[in-house]
Amino acid sequence: MVKVAPRFSEFAEAVKTISGLDVNLCFQCAKCASGCPVSYAMDYTPTQLIHAIQLGLTDLVMNSKTMWLCASCQTCSTRCPQDVDLAGVMDAVRIIAQRKKIKAKIPEVPIFYRSSLRNIALFGRMYELGLIATLKLLTRSFTKDMGLGLRMLRKGKLNIFPSFKGALAARRIFSQVKAREKR
Ligand code: SF4
Ligand code: SF4
Repeated sequence: MVKVAPRFSEFAEAVKTISGLDVNLCFQCAKCASGCPVSYAMDYTPTQLIHAIQLGLTDLVMNSKTMWLCASCQTCSTRCPQDVDLAGVMDAVRIIAQRKKIKAKIPEVPIFYRSSLRNIALFGRMYELGLIATLKLLTRSFTKDMGLGLRMLRKGKLNIFPSFKGALAARRIFSQVKAREKR
């Protein structure tokens, strides 16, 4: 009996289940990569990453820097002639990596995401000084950007104390999202 190869890789199916996006629509024109403002720093361009997902190269994608460097700017999504929302695909692969507990190639990025969300859930809006303190503790980079931080403090760009305005509304939104995720 002739074995017919599946049209979609399992990985592409997993991305579709999470995001509703079909990476197999991509025909590798590379318009996404040529417009991406951070592709110069990525180990695989956005075009290469989507091809790897099509081929089911899970390890390559999960251990790449690309998804963590993606700034979610949506340039690729707006340029794609096939309407592939590549920014959404990047979200999906980050979610898969976190669920599989794969160590991020750039660990500071998921630490930043989680800390930012906790900060907003607690204060109702971003409390920058609190976020900076959390990041310093978690990444142990105590002196990095210290001069910049002090300059921002001096110019009044960073609030010393948090504002709790909107904290209750933010908590309601976070618990609604959690409830939806459990469904
Ligand atoms: S722009 Fe769209 S079709 Fe072209 S390579 Fe990127 S994802 Fe694929
Ligand atoms: S959303 Fe990400 S992959 Fe797309 S252009 Fe922006 S940084 Fe690049």
